[in-house]
Amino acid sequence: MANLRIGVIGCGMIGREHIKRLHYRLQGSEVTAVCDVVEEGAKKGAALVNGDVAVYTDIQAIVNDANVDALVVTTPGFAHKEAVLAAIKAGKPVFCEKPLCTTAADCKEIVDAEIASGKHLVQVGFMRRYDRGYRQVKELLDSGDFGSPLVVKCTHRAISVDDAYTTEMAITDTAIHEIDCLPWLIDDEWDKVQCILGKDTSAAHKGLRDPQIMIMTTKKGVTVILEVYVNCKFGYDINCEVVCEDGVVNLPCPSFPTVRKDNKISTAIEQNWILRFIDSYDVELQEWLDDAKKGVVSGPTAWDGYVAELTADALVKAQKAGTIEKVATGGIPAFYKK
Ligand code: NAP
Repeated sequence: MANLRIGVIGCGMIGREHIKRLHYRLQGSEVTAVCDVVEEGAKKGAALVNGDVAVYTDIQAIVNDANVDALVVTTPGFAHKEAVLAAIKAGKPVFCEKPLCTTAADCKEIVDAEIASGKHLVQVGFMRRYDRGYRQVKELLDSGDFGSPLVVKCTHRAISVDDAYTTEMAITDTAIHEIDCLPWLIDDEWDKVQCILGKDTSAAHKGLRDPQIMIMTTKKGVTVILEVYVNCKFGYDINCEVVCEDGVVNLPCPSFPTVRKDNKISTAIEQNWILRFIDSYDVELQEWLDDAKKGVVSGPTAWDGYVAELTADALVKAQKAGTIEKVATGGIPAFYKK
């Protein structure tokens, strides 16, 4: 089968990684066009590829390029909507990095446009669903051997964050991965959310509340406790324990050698999210490519992107007001039911 010809919109940090991945590492794709708001940025993206690559600064132009079969959107979130809507209008498959959009209303516009088009075209870049460890946990839970999940305990810790990171971003940038991944993991939906701000670490910059504890309940009654702690100093530390009626399933940590030295037995901890999830990006985009050729979307859909944003909005409201907030999606449209 011929290569899928990809146009990449947004040639920043992750855009450049995806260009290399799509052109060289994965099977069945080539990058034929790139776009960035600044021409210099687009040229840097094009320079990563051997061969002819069209360079654009205009989203509509790259989407309409006859040598582009599918789009990958890696601009900042505020520019996702224009690119994804243009791809839907052109009838081209589009992989959009998370978040789908920065507001639930914009995500809903994309959902409505995709349904109106009658074609499944949009996938959102929630890569945890492609992590080997999360997939192993899901397989065990789906086997039924552990019975119903009752409680999920998670940590999302990072060494430090820069001064631009805000209290809200603990939800919209960090917890957003658990917000998408956990309902998929335990086959459930969010019901209510709460965010507790307690004693702050002295390592947090002025105005940042850190750590935060998010308590979320699901429609099936499962309680999820998520600790987001982004100045933990010691490593990028992702944990997830699912307590079920007949046993407990724990997310495996990346394997490092256990070393014995100076009267201690120790194991390393990953240092950042790129290293922790590097393999999952390859799996995610390879599956998306294979699906796009078949005209299907088996990964996170525009609806999932909408629900994640709606849940994040409810959590931000709960964080600010100290309330428990309901997540009201209105129910999954028939178009997205699997
Ligand atoms: P970035 O380094 O800022 O790159 C974004 C690029 O898009 C920049 O080159 C920017 O140009 C360009 N751009 C801005 N507006 C544009 C427009 N209207 N049309 C075309 N290009 C435009 O950001 P990033 O860190 O790569 O993140 C990109 C997206 O990926 C974000 O949505 C982020 O949340 C997501 N992401 C996901 C993961 C994950 O784990 N799944 C990890 C990292 C990032 P200028 O710099 O000149 O504005």
